[in-house]
Amino acid sequence: MKILKERIRRDGAVKPGNVLKVDMFLNHQIDVELLNEIGKEFKRLFADKKITKILTIEASGIAIASIAAQYFKVPVVFAKKAQSINLDGDSYTAKIQSYTHKKIYDVIVSKKYISENDRVLIIDDFLANGCALLGLLDIVKSAGASVEGIGIVIEKGFQAGGKQIRDMGFDLKSLAIVESMNAETGEIVFSDED
Ligand code: 5GP
Repeated sequence: MKILKERIRRDGAVKPGNVLKVDMFLNHQIDVELLNEIGKEFKRLFADKKITKILTIEASGIAIASIAAQYFKVPVVFAKKAQSINLDGDSYTAKIQSYTHKKIYDVIVSKKYISENDRVLIIDDFLANGCALLGLLDIVKSAGASVEGIGIVIEKGFQAGGKQIRDMGFDLKSLAIVESMNAETGEIVFSDED
């Protein structure tokens, strides 16, 4: 997606540890017009799918998923990061290793909001090693629902998550795939596949 790549080049910052900071328009300050274009693009890419629900994870996924949901006209459910899990059987849970904070945390989704009849589109801001997505996939599986597709805004193609999840057979589409980036020079190279 051309305008997204241009924006990443202009306002993104490469940090040590393979972290791309996009706080200027996606992760802290939010450019709603850009998110609107992102939402339309997800709709175009998954136009042939009968989505009933969009699933994302707090916090950064919520704004992206919510704006996209207006084009799909379906509700958004976000997995909540839980301090402690209440094992009352009312929630699906998964463990996720945080890429940016390096710790493992639990996420929960109430059983009320995903059922076996749902056809889910998963949306998130970044894909790195795939832990966040694997957790969300686990939750959809626990619910007995189907995953119709996965939409990612920025995939770091040099990390393992994308290949692993495509090899599992999921329809994963990323709007910008970073092939390489350099914290010293700030250079960002995109793949042509997105
Ligand atoms: P994964 O679970 O695929 O290793 O990492 C995905 C999650 O970690 C995303 O939900 C995102 O919040 C965070 N993340 C991973 N890499 C980056 C990055 O380079 N920049 C930012 N801002 N977040 C990242």
